[in-house]
Amino acid sequence: MIVTFLGTGSGVPTLQRNVSAIALWFIQRGKWWLFDCGEGTQQQIMRSWLKLSQLEKIFITHLHGDHVYGLIGLLASRSLRSNVEAPITVYGPPGLDRYTAAILETTRVHLRYPLSVEIVSPGRYEMEEGYIVECAAAAHRGQAYAYAVEEPERPGAFRDDLARQAGIPPGPLYGKLKRGDTIQLEDGRVFHGESFVGPPQRGRKVVYSGDTSPCQAVVQLAEGADLFIHEATYAHADLALAERSAHSTARQAAGIARQAGVRTLVLTHFSSRYEKAGAEAGMAQLLKEAREVFPDTLLAADFLSLKVRRKRIETVGQSLDLTGDEAGKV
Ligand SMILES: [Zn+2]
Ligand SMILES: [Zn+2]
Repeated sequence: MIVTFLGTGSGVPTLQRNVSAIALWFIQRGKWWLFDCGEGTQQQIMRSWLKLSQLEKIFITHLHGDHVYGLIGLLASRSLRSNVEAPITVYGPPGLDRYTAAILETTRVHLRYPLSVEIVSPGRYEMEEGYIVECAAAAHRGQAYAYAVEEPERPGAFRDDLARQAGIPPGPLYGKLKRGDTIQLEDGRVFHGESFVGPPQRGRKVVYSGDTSPCQAVVQLAEGADLFIHEATYAHADLALAERSAHSTARQAAGIARQAGVRTLVLTHFSSRYEKAGAEAGMAQLLKEAREVFPDTLLAADFLSLKVRRKRIETVGQSLDLTGDEAGKV
């Protein structure tokens, strides 16, 4: 799984940061999902290695413009590609159906691929290939959701060290044990495949808060996440602004990450005020105050890509070759 930030600013796009959009790429499946779709997201996609034809699902956290104004343009552009027929499902809060239907109808767009819009409510949803998406109610203005994506548990790895210890000669018999078969050696001893399989590997978990003030529903949703993306619109010195607009400060986001026991926190959705020259609190301040509470914190930037491994998070260069051996490991 690779997470790519396509937009990391709040409210309006700036030259440094586009508005909210995050891609989650399942490399082995050759598909990716998009979380939020602020204006200009399709251009950000063109600047990345993501392909619109491989986009499978879109999750909208809430209906503020900086999270949804790019949706229809992206869907329409995808339809102009002659070879794109794969369906897309868009998930989001009530009103998303009316929003998409109204624009598609009034602008007379006829998509060439099937589009479904599903209104979701807090709960767990089973997706293709055992993936679970959990939706929780965030604390923002209007109905807003946070989403967690959980990968299915994987069967444990074959323990050839145990097979060797048992005196089973390497070769085709190992293949049979791997498949869970029962084998018999020439000396009459019988072995069962399940005795040589390690414990199942838990699936990875990625969680995105959307816009929210600090809230317990997001803490619960994020429990044990490998990668936790939380908004940090403001520095803690601007707590009053955060409270007024139902957003979080960097320090508050770090507190949520600590409570939830996540592995890595990535902050996003920054107010442009921290990038202005001469700003009293800059981006470094946001990182500093968050790391005081939760050391494993990163700041998102547009096109930052993170590979979510079972044991660690790695930064990915845009030039990474994901077609060969590398793809199988992700
Ligand atoms: Zn926003
Ligand atoms: Zn918002």
